Amino acid sequence: METAYLVLGGERVPAVTGKTFPLLEPATGQPFMEVAEAGREDIERAVRIAHQTFETGSWSRLSATARGRILLKAATLVRERLEQLATIEARNAGKPMRDARDEVGLAAAVLEYWGGAANKIMGETIPVQDTGLEVTLREPVGVCALITPWNFPLVIASWKIAPALACGNTVIVKPAQLTPVSTLLLADILMEAGLPPGVISVLPAPGAIAGNSLVTHPLISKVSFTGSTEVGAHIMRLCAENITRVSLELGGKAANIVFADADLQRSVNSSVFAVFGNCGQDCCARSRLLVQRSVYEEFNQLLAARTAALRVGQPLDEQTEIGPLISAAQRQRSLDYLALAQQEGAHVLMGGNVPSEQPNGYFLQPAILTQVDNRMRVAQEEIFGPVVTVIPFDTEEEAIRLANDVAFGLSGSVWTQNLGRALRVAKGVRAGVLSVNSNHSVHTEAPFGGYKKSGFGREMGMHAVQLYTEVKSIFFSQE
Ligand code: NAD
Repeated sequence: METAYLVLGGERVPAVTGKTFPLLEPATGQPFMEVAEAGREDIERAVRIAHQTFETGSWSRLSATARGRILLKAATLVRERLEQLATIEARNAGKPMRDARDEVGLAAAVLEYWGGAANKIMGETIPVQDTGLEVTLREPVGVCALITPWNFPLVIASWKIAPALACGNTVIVKPAQLTPVSTLLLADILMEAGLPPGVISVLPAPGAIAGNSLVTHPLISKVSFTGSTEVGAHIMRLCAENITRVSLELGGKAANIVFADADLQRSVNSSVFAVFGNCGQDCCARSRLLVQRSVYEEFNQLLAARTAALRVGQPLDEQTEIGPLISAAQRQRSLDYLALAQQEGAHVLMGGNVPSEQPNGYFLQPAILTQVDNRMRVAQEEIFGPVVTVIPFDTEEEAIRLANDVAFGLSGSVWTQNLGRALRVAKGVRAGVLSVNSNHSVHTEAPFGGYKKSGFGREMGMHAVQLYTEVKSIFFSQE
């Protein structure tokens, strides 16, 4: 079986210990690749190389235009290898090929955006009381530790790597243990595009080792983390030790609010993918549908019909719309929540069964829950599986109150033909990313991030510059 080695300082190497671990294909439960497992010594070496490289200035002091050109070249290479990368993502993460191709295209778009943005990262000139000139510079922070989850492995890696590099930092990426392969390949591509040696490392390692050796390393200047709220809170505590800069993209429990005046069929067609897409393993999953009572029954009928028509199947089958969950444990988590929901008094309108025609992979038929109260655990906690709760409401005020009655605040949607209402609800919902008559909330060019326990910091768009730069003020006296 093929072994994927670490990327350490831009070179492919085995782990110092020689340790490897197998990756299972979620669609079959069978091993398909071995991956080198980084340990403390590999992390120590990678951090020292990244720090030394940062200090030499081979990247941090290269002209911004030259840095941008390398990112643009990498974007082209990603597009040229779209099919290879998409197949890896489909096999490793269980994504349907059509989604996997979209995600590779998105990663290329992110590299393109930052390739073009690199030489547009600017400071200011500021009028001050003394005679002279006050200017600010945006300088790279140093060595960045970038920790990513398994649900969108390549996309989220690109969200962090591209802006961090555009700003002149060196990076160490810690991908999720379950899905490291596409990020290793992205590092190969960046090296091929001309990234100098020492600028990037990708180290698949168990979370606890990364926490202790990487996050708390005194030469790490910045940690960018995407993952669960529990681990995010732990990382924030670890960062306190060295006053390491940290940004956190965490969980979600988005409300998808449908008013009676909405185009119901359009909202249903969109909403099934907004919650069941990626098999529900999406921090932006619209997992709480809030539907105005006068159309509640009609909406549920349309939703059930559209959900029943979803094609659940093998990721490599071009017809598949919904693949398996990432692991047996992740599927069990959804099954446990479905059992809990019924104990709490909810009704399973449809789905929630393990399909008998897919006996070996981690498949689950998308489930719709009704008779749900927003205070039930299934409506409050992030399930991260193909389960949606549908809750009725009467008034606009009640819809906003229910939408906000969770600990999270990442995303949300509102469906209505009334412009004033759309605006009032979008302003009223305490979440970082809202959409009106759409469930799309992720755009390469626009800021993305959470309120409340969904974290802080904005990735994407030029807002990400704030995550990966320090601001320096310099006063030039005229006298
Ligand atoms: P997770 O928190 O278990 O792991 C995320 C990453 O952190 C992995 O690389 C893991 O190995 C690493 N990690 C775990 N313990 C660590 C430690 N002690 N120190 C350092 N690193 C450690 O999350 P997951 O299960 O991979 O992903 C699912 C979660 O991610 C969900 O809660 C989801 O909502 C969230 N997520 C959020 C966003 C967003 O942008 N807000 C995007 C995708 C996923």
